[in-house]
Amino acid sequence: MSGSKSGSVRREESARQALAALGSHRSDQQQLSIQCRHAHHVAAVYRTEAGPVYVARTGPHGHGRKDFIDSGRHGGHGGEEYVDLLTEAPSVDEELPAWCDCGPRILLRRDVLRHVAARRGTVRLE
Ligand SMILES: [Zn+2]
Repeated sequence: MSGSKSGSVRREESARQALAALGSHRSDQQQLSIQCRHAHHVAAVYRTEAGPVYVARTGPHGHGRKDFIDSGRHGGHGGEEYVDLLTEAPSVDEELPAWCDCGPRILLRRDVLRHVAARRGTVRLE
C-alpha cells in the first residue's frame, strides 16, 4: 500500500463509525454482495450516511494475536474485518483485500464501485 497512510486510517475510521451507526439494521442496508464462484461470501457493500462502505474479512485468523479478542467488532467469524469508504479514495485503481474459503483475493475499488453503480445486488466472481 502506498499513498497517504493517515488518510486511509481516517477513512477507515469514518467507515467503521458509519457502519456501527447502522447497528442491527446493517443487513437491511446491504447494497452489494460479492461471492466467489463457489458461492462463498467474499465482501459486501453497505449503504451508510457516510457513503457506500466496503466490508471484507481478510483471513480466517488474526495475525498472530491469538490472545487478543475483540468481541465487539468481529461478529464471531474469525479473521480481521477490513472496512473502507468506497467513494473517498485516493485512486480508483486501489486494491481492496478480501478473503473467502478459497483463499485471499484482491478486488479493485474501481470494479466494486462499478457493481454498486449498476445495482447488481449480488456479484459472482469468476
Ligand atoms: Zn470461495
